Amino acid sequence: MSDFSNELLAAIPMPLILIGPDQRIAAMNPGAGEVFPGMGPGGHYLTVLRQPALSALVEQCLNSGEGGTARYVDRAMMREASYRVGAAAVMRDGARSVLLSFEDVSDVEWAGEMRRDFVANVSHELKTPLTALLGFIETLRGPARDDAQARERFLAIMEREAGRMNRLVADLLVLSRVESAERQRPTGRVNIEELVKTVLLSLQVLARSEEVSLTMSRRDDGSGPLTVQGDHDQLQQVLTNLIENGIKYGRKGGNLRVDLERFDRLPALRGPGVRISVEDDGDGFDPIHIPRLTERFYRIDNHRSRTMGGTGLGLAIAKHIVNRHRGRLRIKTEPGRGSTFTVLLPAPS
Ligand code: ADP
Repeated sequence: MSDFSNELLAAIPMPLILIGPDQRIAAMNPGAGEVFPGMGPGGHYLTVLRQPALSALVEQCLNSGEGGTARYVDRAMMREASYRVGAAAVMRDGARSVLLSFEDVSDVEWAGEMRRDFVANVSHELKTPLTALLGFIETLRGPARDDAQARERFLAIMEREAGRMNRLVADLLVLSRVESAERQRPTGRVNIEELVKTVLLSLQVLARSEEVSLTMSRRDDGSGPLTVQGDHDQLQQVLTNLIENGIKYGRKGGNLRVDLERFDRLPALRGPGVRISVEDDGDGFDPIHIPRLTERFYRIDNHRSRTMGGTGLGLAIAKHIVNRHRGRLRIKTEPGRGSTFTVLLPAPS
C-alpha cells in the first residue's frame, strides 16, 4: 500500500479493512482498529471475522469480483453492535483484493425493534377491551336480548371498556405530543404551589372514593413563590399522574402527602430547584421494578392496574415531561410502607 492509500483509508471514519488475494489483511484504518482491537495487517481475516454470511461474501468477492453486503454482529462489546458490511473488489498489481466497509446500523435496528414492540403493545392493549365489547354486543343481540337486568349490567361493563380505550388513545396522543416537543425547552412560568392545590382539588372525588386524605405542605420557610420555568399543562399532567397513582395504589383509608421545597442548589440539577415529593403509605413494591417503571405499559400488578382503569402510560408520560424540563424523576419504595415519587425541577435563581 502506498502512503497515499494508507492516508486515504485513515481519513475515512467508517471502519475499513482491505483483504488481499491471500485472504490476509493487507490494510485497515483506525476505525477498524477500534472495532477489532485484536486484528492487524498480515493476519488471516477469518481469525477475527468468523461469521458465515460475511466469510461467504468475502470469498465470493475474491473469487468472482462480485461485491455485495452482509450483516455482521459484534458481540465482543458491552452492547451488541450490528454492522451492514459492504464488500467491493479492488484490483491491485493484477490481483484481486476486497475492501470491506462497516456501517454501524445498531441504532437503526434498535429503533425498529422499539417501534415493533410498541405497535404490538398498543394493539394488545386495544384488543382486550375491543374483544370484550364485541362479546357483549353479541350477547345483547342474542341470549340477553329480552333480559333488562342483564342489559343494564352489560352496558355498564361496555361503558367501562370503551372508557379504557378512550383513555388509552388520549394517553397515546399526549405521549406522542410530549415526545415531539421534548427538545424544546418550555418558556412559561409556573407557580408549583398553586398548581399542586389545583391538582389536589381536581382529585378530591377520587380520593374520597378511595378514602384517602390528601395533604400538602412546604418543607422550606414558605417565603416566596415556588416558581419554575415550565409548561403549565404538562406539569399539571405530571402531578396529576403521580398523585392519582398515589391514591390508586396507596392504602385505602390512608394518607397521601405532597411535600414542596425550594433549594438554592440541588446537586442533581447543578443549580437552584424545586422538589416535589408525592408520598403514599400503601403497600409499596419490590424496588427491583424501579428501573423499568417508567417504560410504556410496564405494570407491577397487571390486574390491579386494569381494575383501577390504568393505561400503563402515566409514568412514561411523566418521565418524558420531566426530561423536557431538564428535571429528574426519582422513585423510592419500601414494601409494606409506601412509595415516594419525587420530581426535581430547575428554578430560576
Ligand atoms: P397505570 O396506568 O398502570 O397506573 P403508570 O405508568 O401510571 O400506569 O404506572 C405504572 C405502574 O407502576 C402501575 O401499574 C403500578 O403497578 C405502579 N405504580 C405506580 N405508582 C405507584 C404507587 N404509588 N404505588 C405502587 N405502585 C405504583
